[in-house]
Amino acid sequence: MIQFDNVSKQYWDGNKAVNLINLHIKEGEFFVIIGPSGSGKTTVLKMINRLIPLTSGTIFINGKRISDYDIHELRWDIGYVLQQIALFPHMTIGENIAIVPELKNWEQMKINERINELLEMVGLEPDIYRSRKPHELSGGQQQRVGVTRALAANPPIILMDEPFSALDPLSREKLQDDLIHLQKKIKKTIVFVTHDMKEALKLGDRICVMKDGEIVQIGTPEELLANPENEFVRQFVGEEQGPYMEEFSLHDILLPISEAEQNGSVISASASLEETLSLLAINEELAVEEGGTIIGMINRQAVIRKLARSMQREVKS
Ligand code: ADP
Ligand code: MG
Repeated sequence: MIQFDNVSKQYWDGNKAVNLINLHIKEGEFFVIIGPSGSGKTTVLKMINRLIPLTSGTIFINGKRISDYDIHELRWDIGYVLQQIALFPHMTIGENIAIVPELKNWEQMKINERINELLEMVGLEPDIYRSRKPHELSGGQQQRVGVTRALAANPPIILMDEPFSALDPLSREKLQDDLIHLQKKIKKTIVFVTHDMKEALKLGDRICVMKDGEIVQIGTPEELLANPENEFVRQFVGEEQGPYMEEFSLHDILLPISEAEQNGSVISASASLEETLSLLAINEELAVEEGGTIIGMINRQAVIRKLARSMQREVKS
């Protein structure tokens, strides 16, 4: 879907922000890019929709070089959500959402229906909110509108650059949950930048760890947790992990017993987090055994959610 071939970016001052990146982001994937400030995340993201020109290398979308796309077509077909809530203050919520559909010359009726549909999808009652101005909404509500605006013309790709990092922890968690639900319905290809490992683990199908303009590791949340490539990744993921490794219990995340139990692998209810993660790296689902009987199932998502939640508790307390 989105492919980077030896992509580099050197700014005018000689600063190598991105150095020989190779990546393949799959269709429908929730792809998270994480790294410390200055590691090149925003540069990678903005090169995809040509907000920043490449110095060398090639980016393909659906097999076609981005330089071969019409620039408007490219921008309109890629939703973009920023950290700073970038709604136009003098326009209503409805007008803000309608921007790209208007540019694409949609019929007014279709635009109106789309605004209502999107506001409902993110839990903002259309009759109340579509005619309000941005300043009449809370930060979390505004950012929710920012997400719907990016979705408005139904683009296949959405880029999100630290979209929730300006929000308080509660709104942030809520929006993360909403985004997980939303993605189940809309199945877009999402490239999501963050510097927060908890957020990355919670949201990502795969996570790409960057440092100094280079990719250090790409893997699923389980792979990163179980097999960090080097000390940098270990610290980035691991130092968060320590305190609740001991309190980890499969009993907290048991799901009802399913069909898969018959042919799937079995894990002991007393397994450690590490054992669980390494088994889940090769099995989507596991049956949990205690005292000789199967007491339930676990899957990757349940474990990762649990980890992300414990991390959030850590941070708050
Ligand atoms: P991140 O999003 O991970 O914080 P950026 O992609 O914004 O990182 O920046 C990567 C590096 O490129 C940093 O060292 C930053 O200072 C530098 N950089 C970013 N934008 C510019 C620019 N317009 N001109 C010069 N250097 C820049
Ligand atoms: Mg950035």
